[in-house]
Amino acid sequence: MVAEVLTQVGNASSVHAEGRAARARIATARDQVARLVGANAKQITFTSGGTEAINLAIHGLAKRGIISRIIVSAVEHPCVLVTANATGLPVEIVATSPDGIVDLAVLESSLANTDAGCALVCLMLANNETGCVQPVARAAELAHEYDGLILVDAVQAAGKIEVDFRALGADLMALSAHKIGGVIGTGALVVRAGLELTPLIAGGGQELGRRGGTENIAGIAAFGVAAKGAHDELAKMGELGVLRDHLESELAALSSDHVVFAANVERLPNTTCFAHAGLAAETSLIALDLDGIAVSSGSACSSGKVSASPVLAAMGVEPELARGAIRVSMGQGSQPQDIDRFIDAWKKILTRHNASAAA
Ligand code: PLP
Repeated sequence: MVAEVLTQVGNASSVHAEGRAARARIATARDQVARLVGANAKQITFTSGGTEAINLAIHGLAKRGIISRIIVSAVEHPCVLVTANATGLPVEIVATSPDGIVDLAVLESSLANTDAGCALVCLMLANNETGCVQPVARAAELAHEYDGLILVDAVQAAGKIEVDFRALGADLMALSAHKIGGVIGTGALVVRAGLELTPLIAGGGQELGRRGGTENIAGIAAFGVAAKGAHDELAKMGELGVLRDHLESELAALSSDHVVFAANVERLPNTTCFAHAGLAAETSLIALDLDGIAVSSGSACSSGKVSASPVLAAMGVEPELARGAIRVSMGQGSQPQDIDRFIDAWKKILTRHNASAAA
């Protein structure tokens, strides 16, 4: 249980029994998180979340002088682009298809410019708005073919689909605990053996010298428990795809103005992102909230405010349609009756919308 480990005390740097127990809890968590993503325990560095993991990867390589340019897909989480720009290194943005999939031909031609030096490719495994799954393994092959490196943002993918650090060919991978039922404010960076980073936080040599500071033992232990749970329940997560497909087909049957984003490509089984032309996201969010259903607008993840989604813009979605984008995520406990409840709530929203449009 995540809650149980939160009450345990002890500093992992202390020699007394509590300290040893705290160290053991971190070691267990390291194994559990590593197992979730097909990595070795030694490759895991615990951080305060996905954003810090991404900062550690990008700044850590840049400060070390390992990379001289950064290539990011146009649909990365804002923390990737902002961090890449903050290094002062040249940053190239690779466009995507209308379904949000990175254009591998454009990526390859950027990488092929090897005179510009070693490139770090930043590519997410699954998108936080549409759930679409990127061809990371192929992008990693390309990065390595041209002597570059790849950072995989697996914050959304871990625990939803199988993630295998080794098989993907990743050099670095960012994870966030709260996306899999852990505690907010905990994450990890997975670093391939042999790759050296300059730490962002200097200190007492914790986390194999990659991140100084007394460890957040409760958060880390809870991350481990959540990672084990997510690993054990991965098959059940896959089954959510049936509910998601049912939801999408029922909603599409209600109106020909219903658009599902990234509908034609592989997506996370628990995610759907859609809009109804002319219906603003704020209106749907509030109406759904009143019905006890919590969903996000396309870009809620980045700021908490309802604003146009850069991801949908990068996919070429008209701003008017993008303003209506709603992201629905399901969890392990989601049941067919939850889907029915959503469909009923959506019917009411459409009825009101059609009535006000006709008035
Ligand atoms: N990357 C993606 C794809 C995300 O969705 C998020 C947050 O939602 C992050 C990175 C940042 O993670 P954190 O909130 O743990 O800092």
